[in-house]
Amino acid sequence: MKIAIVGGGPGGLFFARLYKRHNPAAVIRIFEQNPSDATFGFGVTLGGSSLGKIADADRDVARRLSESMVFDTAQKIHLNGEEIVIDYAKPGGSIARLRLLAILRDSCLELGVDIAFDTRIASSAELDGYDLVVAADGINSTLRQQHAAAFGTQTRVLTNHFAWYGVGHAMSPNALVFRDTKGGRFVAHYYAYTPDMSTFVAECDDATWQAAGMDNMDDQQRRQLVEEVFATELEGAPLIENRSIWRQFPAVTNARWRHGNMVLIGDALRSAHFSIGSGTRLAMEDALALFEATLDAASVADILDQFVALRKSGRDQFGEAAERSFEWYERMETVMSQTVLDFSYDFLTRTGRVDAARLETYAPGFAKLYRENRGQLDCAS
Ligand SMILES: Cc1cc2nc3c(=O)[nH]c(=O)nc-3n(C[C@H](O)[C@H](O)[C@H](O)COP(=O)(O)OP(=O)(O)OC[C@H]3O[C@@H](n4cnc5c(N)ncnc54)[C@H](O)[C@@H]3O)c2cc1C
Repeated sequence: MKIAIVGGGPGGLFFARLYKRHNPAAVIRIFEQNPSDATFGFGVTLGGSSLGKIADADRDVARRLSESMVFDTAQKIHLNGEEIVIDYAKPGGSIARLRLLAILRDSCLELGVDIAFDTRIASSAELDGYDLVVAADGINSTLRQQHAAAFGTQTRVLTNHFAWYGVGHAMSPNALVFRDTKGGRFVAHYYAYTPDMSTFVAECDDATWQAAGMDNMDDQQRRQLVEEVFATELEGAPLIENRSIWRQFPAVTNARWRHGNMVLIGDALRSAHFSIGSGTRLAMEDALALFEATLDAASVADILDQFVALRKSGRDQFGEAAERSFEWYERMETVMSQTVLDFSYDFLTRTGRVDAARLETYAPGFAKLYRENRGQLDCAS
């Protein structure tokens, strides 16, 4: 089998690794527009359960990832001067995105996967002659855009604005800070991903963007404004930039996942909003499902049918949870008018994946605090 993979992100690399390990004679070529060791963003979260699924498929990669991760069970929720620290029953893990990609890249090269860095694919016509084409080229997927009608692509650009920064020390516990200031509302979501680096995602709603004059600022002025808004949390540390452009998130869905011998995975298939911190995991789990679909398939068409059958329902459920999460952030003014206790409860149950029973095991200390103050857990399941 001759496979072309467009995009050397977590989805593309993990699929190449899994397939080549099982089929050493296969010819696999990954096309990645960036040089090796270059990426956007800083650290990403990769929860314990995702690591478990990766380990079931590839113990060696899971071990290498976990050795480079930091784990934390606590998360602070801060709302305008009041805060609650939530202690989750299971730890969340984080890793530098660059490190994750380097581990996956090396694990592919060891097996003889061919990776063409600095190579941008502009059209699927460049991939004639391959049996299977995997479009793992991220949220702005070129292949998906080229065949948007065939895939039934829909894009909704959210109204909030955000930028992804780093901070040069470990900020612990990880936190979500919501602050009314400058005539609007700002959010910072930060967590350590190595002993000396943290991710820091800043967000505000569109009314704030206008009120604070951010629409007339450049990205350097916006960074300075965020440093001012979160001066207490940053304790004088500057925000570090890495393509830290302020933008609005495109929520992308596709009615059809395959077209001819081409298949979408990861962010190209459905963008995972950063507020659920699961895009990396979803891309890797798509890769795993696509690999599993190859195991008993008689043809490429069969592989693609089986991939959709294996993955669709779980992926749709997660996508709907992500939608409820970003809708919650899009209602920032309303949700921030609650007390910190109700706000935290609302936050924890916003996706619909955590109901009363799950909250008791997911965040037992918080469930107890909420029951003591409000009498019962009245989440809608
Ligand atoms: C602010 C922010 C915070 C986030 N935080 C988290 C988090 O904490 N946890 C988490 O799990 N996820 C997080 N994510 C999401 C996560 O980064 C993505 O969901 C994940 O990287 C998707 O993986 P992927 O392999 O599908 O695509 P990508 O990682 O985007 O990789 C696609 C690759 O394709 C390459 N490419 C694109 N077009 C072409 C082309 N035409 N030719 C060749 N190469 C091409 C790109 O250079 C890129 O390397 C966050 C995202 C944002 C924006």
